[in-house]
Amino acid sequence: MRRVYLDHNATTPVRAEVLEAMLPYFKEKFGNASSVHGFGREAKVALEEAREKVAYLFGAFPQEIFFTSGGTESDNLAIKGAAFANRKKGKHIITSRIEHHAVLESCKFLEKEGFEVAYLPVDSLGMVDPDDLRKALREDTVLVSIMYVNNEVGTIQPIEKLSKIAKEKGAYFHTDAVQAVGKIPIDVRRLEVDMISVSGHKIYGPKGVGALFVRKGVRITPWSHGGHHERSRRAGTENVPAIVGFAKALELINQNMEEENNRLRELTQRFYQKLLDSIPDVILNGDLNHRIPNTLNLSFKGVEGESVILSLDLKGVAVSSGSACTSGTLEPSHVLAAMGVDPAIVQGAIRFSFGKDNTTEDVEYVANLLPEIINRLRSMSPLYAKK
Ligand SMILES: *Cc1c(COP(=O)(O)O)cnc(C)c1O
Repeated sequence: MRRVYLDHNATTPVRAEVLEAMLPYFKEKFGNASSVHGFGREAKVALEEAREKVAYLFGAFPQEIFFTSGGTESDNLAIKGAAFANRKKGKHIITSRIEHHAVLESCKFLEKEGFEVAYLPVDSLGMVDPDDLRKALREDTVLVSIMYVNNEVGTIQPIEKLSKIAKEKGAYFHTDAVQAVGKIPIDVRRLEVDMISVSGHKIYGPKGVGALFVRKGVRITPWSHGGHHERSRRAGTENVPAIVGFAKALELINQNMEEENNRLRELTQRFYQKLLDSIPDVILNGDLNHRIPNTLNLSFKGVEGESVILSLDLKGVAVSSGSACTSGTLEPSHVLAAMGVDPAIVQGAIRFSFGKDNTTEDVEYVANLLPEIINRLRSMSPLYAKK
């Protein structure tokens, strides 16, 4: 059976070149980067070379890159770290309603610790209004955290504008750029943000590794205590093979970004058009134009997203409903709810996220399967009134 993976916003396969780059650090170059002997120095050199590479690719200084276990840890470190380090200045934080759970739950934790959090709304396309941020900022706002690209609908936020507004008021600005890396060129000098979270496994690198960019001079409190790793911001023996793989994956995804973006845009638009032509009542969630090119979030009126996922899975096709963290619990997507999508439409939402190995044949295969699946599910659905 043909297998088609259309869930690249959940995770991606590791590139062969990335695996190749990692292997020596599992084998003969296994040293602990903190050891002073030859084995340790070998690992230390690899670690610092990876840091220089990551820094260079983001236009940052190597001392501004802190390796973590992934996007979740980077978000936690940025938000809790900046909140606690600056609590004498104020205890007010601003974020948005459509953030990843790593951000939302970190904010909820801070609320329990006596911080006050404002959750900015979004419009029907999933965009934060800079004026809403302007109004929400206070003298005691210490941190603003707004994601660069939403993982469910792919909408791109006006980060430059938002960070400028926050900084005029003296608040730090953090962005979760996990879904932006490799789709949008990120240069920290141009963006003027203070902290950026990134992850390895969304860009054809290994799972369990990521980084947090922290601009020089920005104070954060560490959340893991122990040795002096990562300049005392994040204790724990560095995962050298994963860090080497992450740096390699970042280098490779930056190499043909524009070309690959154009290819993905064509693929998703072709796919969307095919579905519009063959299935009635298909609704696009998000913005067709202002999005990363690989992501399409579509609702099929009158069906349950979970049923579509299972039917496609039987045909070897992998997609998801809402975000990977909430599926399985049948919890309706907080992102689509914040966008004001009708709850009945949210139920039938499917996220198709394409990647580097997807072809036009994949588009044809899935687009040909869907009309029959949707028809069958609708014929059994009391929710779908036939016209
Ligand atoms: C996947 C993802 C994360 C979490 O990253 P992990 O490396 O899986 O912990 C955070 N934010 C966004 C937007 C994501 O898509």
